Amino acid sequence: MINQFRPTWLEIDLNAVAHNHDVARQAVKPHGTRVFPVIKDNAYGLGAVAVAHALNNAPGFCIALLEEAVTLRQAGITQPLLLVTGIPPHGEETVANLNVTPFIFHTEQAQRLARVTRKPAPLFLKVDTGMARLGFPPEQVATALAEITRMPGVRVTGLASHLALADDREHPETPRQIQRFRQLLAHREGLLGSLANSAGILGHPASHFDIARPGIMLYGASPFFPHRTWQEDGLRPVVTWRTRILQTRTLHPGESLGYGHLFTTQGPCRVAWLPVGYGDGYCRSLGQERAQVLIHGQRAPVVGRVCMDLVAVDVSGIPGAGEGTLVTLLGQDGAGFIGIEEMARWQETIPYEVITRISPRVPRRYTPFP
Ligand SMILES: *Cc1c(COP(=O)(O)O)cnc(C)c1O
Repeated sequence: MINQFRPTWLEIDLNAVAHNHDVARQAVKPHGTRVFPVIKDNAYGLGAVAVAHALNNAPGFCIALLEEAVTLRQAGITQPLLLVTGIPPHGEETVANLNVTPFIFHTEQAQRLARVTRKPAPLFLKVDTGMARLGFPPEQVATALAEITRMPGVRVTGLASHLALADDREHPETPRQIQRFRQLLAHREGLLGSLANSAGILGHPASHFDIARPGIMLYGASPFFPHRTWQEDGLRPVVTWRTRILQTRTLHPGESLGYGHLFTTQGPCRVAWLPVGYGDGYCRSLGQERAQVLIHGQRAPVVGRVCMDLVAVDVSGIPGAGEGTLVTLLGQDGAGFIGIEEMARWQETIPYEVITRISPRVPRRYTPFP
């Protein structure tokens, strides 16, 4: 077993993921929309196979890499997989064999796929309704559809697009994107529409269409960060990150610590070194009293530079803290709580980056174990 000795680990609450999935399903229920959980990037770092097993009643999943499809199929996940970034070079055979539905944005991708299929393979046309990222511009959709319809080896089953500003609930561009998408689907009976991400699901009912693609909300953060919290969106936190104190040191007044001696004590001070660092995705920008951790439910500031494998916290105010004491970097400890949203603010980033950065060398523990 990899990393079985590490006293640093992630606890992932699959019941909370299932709860958040239900929040998404309830939100789209009035439209009869199907929910395809987004489990790309290893389910935002938390473990795609475990999350897919926990959500095994989902009618399908969304992924970003064809390699992810291989992993999921090997783990026995049988639902349709939507590959949102198109077909990678030399990926056609695998797409066809693994029942993966790619979002394509060139007719040539359809052609490559059509050449290797024995029965018509489903695909979605990715259309650009206003993000200027991937996709056919709306005016090219009719031509592309006509061209692909003539290819015997493939079958367009849906149109997909992505919202650029849905995290701002009031932004006027989102209704415009929805309207463009609606027009593209009009008079094209039988084609499925997929537009909504988490923010679309919770904030823009008109974006629901046939298939919704929730990501971040499943993992316990509001898609409207920093304007709304997970509580306000009815979500539950999923990630707890814990470690144990490796060594404590009592420093004299005026003594300095760590690389660059960036922290110098004012008075008598006790610090604890924790076996976690930027090699684990505990970012270097969290040092120098930016971040805090929880010990016995109380907050202790991170001091000095974050190292690759170690970080120091000032435990002067926590008399019980000693070697082996449990430390919570993220999640609940007694009355204390540090969420991925708070950590995102410390790092000047978004909750997505906080969790996707937690490195694979931090072992994941699942409750309930899948
Ligand atoms: C990542 C992604 C999503 C999920 O977005 P969230 O904001 O995490 O809900 C949906 N659709 C596409 C195309 C994506 O790439």
